[in-house]
Amino acid sequence: MTTPQRPGRPATASPPAEASLAAPDGVADPYQERGALSDPAVCGHCGAVYAGGTWHWGPAPPHASRVRCVACHRTDDNVPAGYVTLEGPYASTHRDELEEEIARYAHLARTAHPMRRVMAMEEVGGRLLVTTTDVELAHDIAQELRRRHGGELDGHFNREEFLIRMRWRH
Ligand SMILES: [Zn+2]
Repeated sequence: MTTPQRPGRPATASPPAEASLAAPDGVADPYQERGALSDPAVCGHCGAVYAGGTWHWGPAPPHASRVRCVACHRTDDNVPAGYVTLEGPYASTHRDELEEEIARYAHLARTAHPMRRVMAMEEVGGRLLVTTTDVELAHDIAQELRRRHGGELDGHFNREEFLIRMRWRH
């Protein structure tokens, strides 16, 4: 069994810099940049509509070109942009409740922002792993967990790979 290596942390470690937890605004998802996205467009898989430079849900304009949106593309390829790991005794004993909470939050996020989706929630090595199509959703889920339940949070956004990894421990 392969377990992802935990970053070593000395007992006297200072809290992670807030900068590392900042939402990675203004960085374009490379999946989005595969070919220029025509406007308007509609995703032939999920029906999300791209118009006026943003994605939303609704009827497609009649002349919209058919594309595969970045969220469907990542889901089809199984290439998440965000990972949130939930670990620790509290996370373990409240597993069902936390999964429901994340599912509710994900539903709201997807309704407001069609490209922000939870791809999967699965147990990996005794921890719950949530994968997302979008870096901001992973970031927001982790922040929401800490806000509602406490615990510790750290995370890292890899700008080059457009990949965020958040770890919540409680
Ligand atoms: Zn789609």
